[in-house]
Amino acid sequence: MAAATPSAMTNRHTPAFGLASGLITEVHAFWLAGMSCDGCSIAAVGARQPSVEQLVSGSIPGLPPVVLHHPVLATDAGEAFIAPYRRARAGTLGAPYVVIYEGSVADERIAAFHGGYWSAMGADIDAAGGHKPIPTAQWLHDLAPGAAAVIAIGTCATWGGVPAAAGNVTGSMGVMDFLGKDYLSALGLPVINVPGCSPVGDNFTETVATVLMFLAGVGPLPAFDELGRPAWMFKKNVHQGCVRGGSYEEGLFAKAYGGTECLVELGCWGPVVQCNIVSRGAIGHAGGCMNTGGICIGCTMPGFPDAFAPFYKAPPGAMVSAYSSRTVGSFIRPLRRITQRRRNLTEHWSRERSVPSGWGHVAPPNVFERAANYFYRKLQHAGSEFRPNSPRQQQLQADGHQFIGDAKRRIEKESAP
Ligand code: SF4
Ligand code: SF4
Repeated sequence: MAAATPSAMTNRHTPAFGLASGLITEVHAFWLAGMSCDGCSIAAVGARQPSVEQLVSGSIPGLPPVVLHHPVLATDAGEAFIAPYRRARAGTLGAPYVVIYEGSVADERIAAFHGGYWSAMGADIDAAGGHKPIPTAQWLHDLAPGAAAVIAIGTCATWGGVPAAAGNVTGSMGVMDFLGKDYLSALGLPVINVPGCSPVGDNFTETVATVLMFLAGVGPLPAFDELGRPAWMFKKNVHQGCVRGGSYEEGLFAKAYGGTECLVELGCWGPVVQCNIVSRGAIGHAGGCMNTGGICIGCTMPGFPDAFAPFYKAPPGAMVSAYSSRTVGSFIRPLRRITQRRRNLTEHWSRERSVPSGWGHVAPPNVFERAANYFYRKLQHAGSEFRPNSPRQQQLQADGHQFIGDAKRRIEKESAP
């Protein structure tokens, strides 16, 4: 999927840079949670590059501090917590703001029909003087038009995710579905999507930081793909960055969990899933599905979870690709081991056919390996002036012998009685 470049985006919707540099002293971030397990919040607070603490303290040069309004992290409660949301809704906040939505957006009409709500935050006073909970879907509806940007965090908010899977009784959907194709923020941005169940926290905070740079006028709008994903994070598939990719290429496939081989036959969808968790790590460059022995179940993708079910069953495409890798690998693998074994020997050990290691016996190359290496080296050095026995090599060797001979003679002369 081609990335929508900043210039393409800016031509359509936005100025090249956001608000004028220096005019913004703070940006409010209104966090809303819909049909959510709070995993995205946990992922976000675990982020390190940058951390939420860096964002809210304004310690990143060029970035305005973020005033975070989060229902779980807030120290204010009740009306004191809700008041800034109300001011933003009324257009009296006096500062730019972004909306961050976690969890899918339920169809509150269904709940209202039965006299309830799916997810709500704060309350208005109804006609009878009672408290009427405000659904977070309503907050999203009211706050989105005035927001500098709307960021959906996690697969539920981006595409619908688990609450929108088959049997979706709540009418759950992603933010993009809820706001519609024509939605643009106050700065002309469509919904920004950072998927993952849960997402990589750093993917989210980095996206926020780059959008803030844009808003502050110190950076261009980052590149997003056609689905509003940060293109630099979601362009490659899992397989392209996987620590087990070499095993796949050599046709080494795990039959059970716990080894280091490729997991495709245990149900890994990495070759077709766009996600960077293996190279980035889950938190602080540590963890991440295949790094810790797990398969990819496609949790960043719009089709998740139904399109990847049943989990832990090899994808049909794996039969073809695994078969060809196994066939090629059975030929390539032994050849690579021969080449590797030779490169675990010094020139001296190779000549002597003996390795002076006290750690274990290293078998010398057999006749077949020596023959294979002979031809391999011929090919390796073909066309190079450093090939064995080339005039240049012979000259270097002669110079070396001369140097050593001179030194030995001098030592003998000086040590003679
Ligand atoms: S474990 Fe999955 S992502 Fe990794 S090499 Fe195998 S198929 Fe590719
Ligand atoms: S590797 Fe697959 S399962 Fe793991 S986070 Fe990425 S998309 Fe989700």
